[in-house]
Amino acid sequence: MSAGKRELLCSKCCKRVSYHIFKRPAKTIIKDIEIEYEEYYGLCDECQSEIYVPGLDDRNEDVIEEEFRKKKDLITISDIKKILEKYNVEKRPLSKLLGFGELTITRYIDGQFLQLNTQIFYLKYQEMSKR
Ligand SMILES: [Zn+2]
Repeated sequence: MSAGKRELLCSKCCKRVSYHIFKRPAKTIIKDIEIEYEEYYGLCDECQSEIYVPGLDDRNEDVIEEEFRKKKDLITISDIKKILEKYNVEKRPLSKLLGFGELTITRYIDGQFLQLNTQIFYLKYQEMSKR
């Protein structure tokens, strides 16, 4: 048994082949913002053409998202998590307390693009702390 041997279908070779994953600089535009990032991609070991690797797109999206948040000065997921831990609150109540929709923070942590920027977040947060 070839357990652990990773093979995928190459559309050029028309068979299952071994492959390797590489990184290359890439650019994309999201909401008029140019994002530069390191893109992961797979190459067929036999014909050296690009091969579809399951899960790789997700990895690339995570990288793009992190860069996007940095560029837009959006609050990062780890920042929100720190607040949740510090005040020992759940995502939904915090979201409502801050005047967002009940699921806004949940969605943000799940990685959906939302216009929840650092400034708005902290303004609302300060407001809340005064009460
Ligand atoms: Zn191939």
